[in-house]
Amino acid sequence: MDKKDLFAAFDGFSQNLMETLAEAEALKKQVQDLVEQNAALRLENSKLRDRLSQFSQLEESESGNKGISSRKENLENIYEDGFHICTFFYGQRRENNEDCAFCMELLYRE
Ligand SMILES: [Zn+2]
Repeated sequence: MDKKDLFAAFDGFSQNLMETLAEAEALKKQVQDLVEQNAALRLENSKLRDRLSQFSQLEESESGNKGISSRKENLENIYEDGFHICTFFYGQRRENNEDCAFCMELLYRE
């Protein structure tokens, strides 16, 4: 293989690498979007369950506070998984797992 062929081969190789890298970035973005969508849906689900138990008299009379505490647990789980539960960044990932004052307010207010 002469030098010309060698450089051509390297050009092709690095071109492929760039394309693969771009594809990987695109995939990563898609996964991030899906993960955030999933967190937002979990939040919605938790809200709807909460609503449902408000309307269901059976649950209300049998376990008045159970609905609220399990909703809080749900929110805690979602927060612990690294997502915002506050209205400002609803369902988005918490960057580097940093605590969010708005989320904390929701979780720990009495
Ligand atoms: Zn937040």
